[in-house]
Amino acid sequence: MPKINVLPKSIAELIAAGEVVERPASIVKEAIENSIDAGATHITVEIQRGGITYIRITDNGCGIATDDVPKAFLRHATSKIEKAVDLDRISTLGFRGEALAATSAVSRVELFTKTANEDFGTHYKIEGGEEILNEEVGCPDGTTLIVRDLFYNTPARMKFLKKDVSEGTTVSAIVERQAMSHPEIAFKLIRDGKQTLSTSGDGKLASAAYSVLGREISNTLIPVDLILDGIKVTGLVCKPVSCRASRAYQFTFLNGRYVQSGTVTAATEQAYKNSAMVGKFPVFVLCVTVPYETVDVNVHPAKTQVRFSDEKRVFTAVYNAVKNAIISGDTRPEIVVNQPKTNTFLHMTTEQYRQTAVSLPTQERPEPVKEITKPKTEPVRLNSDKAPFFLREEFKPNVPLKKDVSIVVEENKTTVETKVENTVPQTALVQEEKEYSPKEEIKLIGEAFNTYIVVQKGDSIFLIDKHAAHERILFNQFKATHTVESQSLLMPVTVKLIGDEYSAIISNLHLLEDYGFEIEDFGNESVLVRAIPAMLDDEDTESIVTEAAESLARKGSVQLERIDDILHTVACKAAIKAGYITSDTEKLNLAVKVLGDNDIMYCPHGRPVAFEIKKYNLEKYFGRIQ
Ligand code: ADP
Ligand code: MG
Repeated sequence: MPKINVLPKSIAELIAAGEVVERPASIVKEAIENSIDAGATHITVEIQRGGITYIRITDNGCGIATDDVPKAFLRHATSKIEKAVDLDRISTLGFRGEALAATSAVSRVELFTKTANEDFGTHYKIEGGEEILNEEVGCPDGTTLIVRDLFYNTPARMKFLKKDVSEGTTVSAIVERQAMSHPEIAFKLIRDGKQTLSTSGDGKLASAAYSVLGREISNTLIPVDLILDGIKVTGLVCKPVSCRASRAYQFTFLNGRYVQSGTVTAATEQAYKNSAMVGKFPVFVLCVTVPYETVDVNVHPAKTQVRFSDEKRVFTAVYNAVKNAIISGDTRPEIVVNQPKTNTFLHMTTEQYRQTAVSLPTQERPEPVKEITKPKTEPVRLNSDKAPFFLREEFKPNVPLKKDVSIVVEENKTTVETKVENTVPQTALVQEEKEYSPKEEIKLIGEAFNTYIVVQKGDSIFLIDKHAAHERILFNQFKATHTVESQSLLMPVTVKLIGDEYSAIISNLHLLEDYGFEIEDFGNESVLVRAIPAMLDDEDTESIVTEAAESLARKGSVQLERIDDILHTVACKAAIKAGYITSDTEKLNLAVKVLGDNDIMYCPHGRPVAFEIKKYNLEKYFGRIQ
């Protein structure tokens, strides 16, 4: 018969400590709870190596009076219960007077603490349960608890610890839950010198949830607020469309403490039936407040699982609260199309822009043939239906534009033929033919607001701003050919200009002539306009010349800049306007040009020409793929 031995006190303490302190996160949890009980409004948790080598919790709570410090480290020492009242409540909240004793039994603990009504604080050290230092110290009000070398004296326990990263993640989870259950406290978490969490302590659950869950998830949250049958349910839940692939973002706080409750989870998920996708789980942060006696007290307080004495009542309250929130707070999802990341033109100086613009491909560019740029024989009257000039049959440039694209649609395949108008010597001609595979076929879906052409190409949908696109196409054409066809006006138009603008026009008459304008000095700060670029509406003559004058006046002596400005003005005026009605062929034609040329990314003013929405993103968005 083996002999019965009474365990030495130190061994007994170690065994007891093991029940309370399993890992760094247990210490952090207990210490934060102590800080909260001490009335702290700021709590900072700092850990190194997942908390195994170093944990520091600093609070601005009430502190521990000098005389009480050693007592706080004794088992069953607590300032929180004086007599055996309301034990149900006590066990629910986990006041057992064990945390500090257990922690100091299995690590090296250092404490700085000071109460507001003492002049000095206390510096206390206890290692493996043995007090090694107790001295007076100057320190701020509140408590700093430092725990080093966890399980240094119990290597067997040490073996059960996971990798630093996992221990650190568990600590993070503890701090995050505490932060959300106490939005009135500003929490900070520093992991290996890096701050990974910071809550504002403004008292709003939404703020704390934002810090913990991040912007993307927080933006999908809607508030919950209902009292039913004595059970209060408040918090945040996500819109059904934002449900996630896992339950990782589900938080239940029961009477202010993080718990796991199958009932709360089931009730919440039930409320999403038929509105969330199968296999997706709601994000929720729910605070359930119930009378203490309805919580099953037989569940160990250190464990987070809870049971209720009336599960059905809790289920009904949570279900209705969440259902109400979903019904009243959900709106139709919006597809967020991000701005292109590198909209360089918007941030470019004119000089930089000019350099980009002039670096367009030059090899195949035919020399401008001056003589035939200005036919000026018959005045060309253009009717007001001039918008999509690039499609008009009658528009035959005298000098080849870079390309003239026509589309031949055969069964299941679109052939884009690139022809160059044949009015200059054959040597200048380039005959290109590019065949798009069916995958690249451009399919017109339609047009939104008479402004945005919607097409499908390969695995993407494109939204094309037709004015910006056309403006860019024209500008590129002008730049490539250095030529703008001219039209003589039936009746010359007198345009009155002022000061600088007048002199800007007068000093650039030749330049303007190169780009389709025929302007004469009319004296008295006015000019006589005899011809304008062919693709412009003659009714716009005055505004075109004024605009050209304005931009020329702003520009100094750099000729290329002035040319660009004239071309911008012409391209902008000639381009189809948003709101104009365009035929399907015209839309498709424009789309083919835009998508077939990587240089057509931005309008000459730097606005984007097209947005792409990838099929993959849509499928992700609609939950067809993960
Ligand atoms: P319990 O929290 O169950 O009372 P603990 O071992 O966690 O037991 O703490 C023992 C006592 O030490 C507490 O009752 C409290 O008086 C004191 N204490 C611990 N941490 C703090 C703190 N951060 N601020 C003020 N007092 C504290
Ligand atoms: Mg405690």
